[in-house]
Order: sequence, then structure tokens, then C-alpha cells
Amino acid sequence: MKEIMPTNGQFALMQLPYENLGNTISQNTLSFHHGKHLKAYVDNLNKALPGSAFEGKSLQEIVKTSDGGIFNNAGQVLNHTMYFEQFSNSPRQMSDKFATLVNRDFGSFEALQQEMNQKGATLFGSGWVWLSADKEGKLVITQNTNADNPVRHGLTPLLTFDVWEHAYYLDYQNRRADYLAALWQLIDWPTVESRL
Ligand code: MN
Repeated sequence: MKEIMPTNGQFALMQLPYENLGNTISQNTLSFHHGKHLKAYVDNLNKALPGSAFEGKSLQEIVKTSDGGIFNNAGQVLNHTMYFEQFSNSPRQMSDKFATLVNRDFGSFEALQQEMNQKGATLFGSGWVWLSADKEGKLVITQNTNADNPVRHGLTPLLTFDVWEHAYYLDYQNRRADYLAALWQLIDWPTVESRL
């Protein structure tokens, strides 16, 4: 994935690459999640950067090397940017090349979905479930709590599901498993694959 750089020391709120995501993620959720939650993380990060050791660094570098408040906000900005960018209301299919990797490392696409849904449903508290590639190129699924991101663990993050309650509560209430099952129909695979 391309390094995300600040402009004049400040990160911009990413623009959504779509107007809506149908009924899977409502306009109401999109509006709060992007316009309120993500915007607050961007604003808080921008307030904390001036005069810190992280001024002028890429977002990925900050997520890898910071801690405390700067890490919490930078992690959430990177995680949400990857989450929102991977969706489309007219998503494109997975390439044969990527499907070969999925079959090699999970046995089938259904097995990958099952593991990701299960790990998302059983993550206790707030966090993210990730599909990443390890240093040998093997695909792995991890649960990461709060603002954590696989780049802090030597992995290349490819696909992520936000399991903080704010991501689904307006549409699915406590039915986190239904939210996770529905997300698959929004994934634009060439966007995911471009992160490898
Ligand atoms: Mn979120």
C-alpha cells in the first residue's frame, strides 16, 4: 500500500470512493462512522503532531513506531482508511492469481470467510480482524484490539473488518455476526490485492 503522507504537517480526512453502500452499511452509519468517528481521529492526530517526533512522517511509519495518544489516533486513521477504501457498491471480483493464494493457504474461499467471520465475532471488546500476508507471502488472519494494525507485527495488511460497535450498531444492533457476513458482498478485490 502507498505511504500516506501529511500535507503541511496535517493529514486530510480521506474521501469515500462511493456515495452509498446500499443497505449493507446504511447512509446513517456511513455518515457517523466517516464524518464523525474517523474525522475525530484525524483531528486529534493533527492536533498532537506539531512539535512531536512524528511530524512529517508517513501515517504507516507513525503507526509502526508511536505509542499512547498519537498511536491510538494514527492507528484508527490508517485502519479506517483501509476499511472504507476496500468497499464498493459495484465491487470487482478476485483475480485468479489471488484465488490461488487463498486456496493454498485456507483450502477454499469459504474457509477464509469462515475464519474471518469467526475471529471477528469472537474478538472481545473493540478491535479489528485482518487478512494479511506474512514475510513469506503466506496469508494469515489475526484479531487486533483497539487501534492495533498488522504493520506493527511485521505483516502486510490486505483486508479488514471493523468490529468496534460504532461500525455496526445503528444497522445491526448486537448482531455482529450478521454485519460480518454481509460485508463480503462489498469487497472490491482489486483494491485489496493492490495492497500486497
Ligand atoms: Mn470504526
